[in-house]
This record gives sequence, structure tokens and C-alpha cells, in this order.
Amino acid sequence: MKIICIGRNYTDHIKELDNERPTEPVIFIKPDSAVLPKEQDFYIPEFSNDLHYEVEVLIKIKKVGKHIKAKFAHSYYDEIGLGIDFTARDVQTALKNKGLPWEKAKGFDGSAVIGNWLDKTKFKDLNNLEFSLSKNDKIVQKGNTKLMLWKIDELIAYVSTFFMLKKGDVLFTGTPSGVGKVEPNDYLAGELQGHQLFSVKIK
Ligand code: ZN
Repeated sequence: MKIICIGRNYTDHIKELDNERPTEPVIFIKPDSAVLPKEQDFYIPEFSNDLHYEVEVLIKIKKVGKHIKAKFAHSYYDEIGLGIDFTARDVQTALKNKGLPWEKAKGFDGSAVIGNWLDKTKFKDLNNLEFSLSKNDKIVQKGNTKLMLWKIDELIAYVSTFFMLKKGDVLFTGTPSGVGKVEPNDYLAGELQGHQLFSVKIK
């Protein structure tokens, strides 16, 4: 499987969205080795001094597809979830400044937390789901899928024009504001519409 991630997909200035919406989403890939095994602690990699959490809504792809139209995208997934795109922000900033790819900052071992999956039929409207991340029992990130610049089905359509989607692939749909640093002994937990879908200890 592969993990396809979307860069900036939320803005605080929703009213200005239509004017300020960039022309294309930012895409990057994490390898399958990035998945943090379930129930395993996250170890801050030694190459970073500024390791950030980014909570994101996840979609699990259920069948092969290429050049998927947005109006048919819903038939390519049944499950929705929540996870963390761990990011070595210092490494990413250095790479960005040189115009280099982000993989070292985003695709390292354990950088993808994938929580439990929920059947999408559990929810009336996937484009109006609240989610949050708490750090040491205090909420640090709050989002709603209605604030996405590109909705889930639009992302699937866009991504599938470049990458064939396969069963088991996971789409990370981007993070809302509030990203921040983790320290050893922090405890993170993520909720989607009141369902806690993951928790992870930082080492
Ligand atoms: Zn992200």
C-alpha cells in the first residue's frame, strides 16, 4: 500500500476561499514503512529537534482506480478514519528553502499514525465532520471537513490523475491549524465526531 498525503487543505479565512484557493492541491507520498504499528509508541527521530503533529482525516481506498471522476469517487471508499502526519518541521523547512523534496521530513519510519476505521455510512455528511487532537488531555487542534479547500471526492479525483489508487491505499487529507511540537512523554489522542480513533505515546 501507499500513503498519499495532501499539503495545505484548510484555511482560516473561509470566506476568502474562492478567491484565494490555490490552483492545485499539494501532494506527497509516504512509503508503507512509515506506518506506525498499532499500539506502538512513537519515538522522536534523532535527526529532528522540532517534531510536529498534524491531525488529519483519512480515507481508505477499497478498489483500483485511475482518472476517477469526483462524482464517482465515493464508490472507491467505504471507511473513514483519523491519523497523524508526523513531520520533522526543522528538516522540512531546510528542504523547502532549498527547493528539495520533503520525504526525509515526512516519510520516515513511524511518521504515519493510522487510527481505527469507521464505516462512512455512520455519518450523514462526510463534508461536515468535526475532529480534534488532544495533547496530554488538552485539545490542541480542532477541525471540520467542511473547511477543506478540496473535498474528499475532489482529492481522490485529483490524486488519481497522477497515481493509480489501489485497494488498501490511505489518503491523508491535510491538517487544520494548530500544529505543534511533541516532547517525550506527551500523550496524543484523536477524535472524529466523538469517536476516539487513536492514541499514541511519545518517547
Ligand atoms: Zn499533513
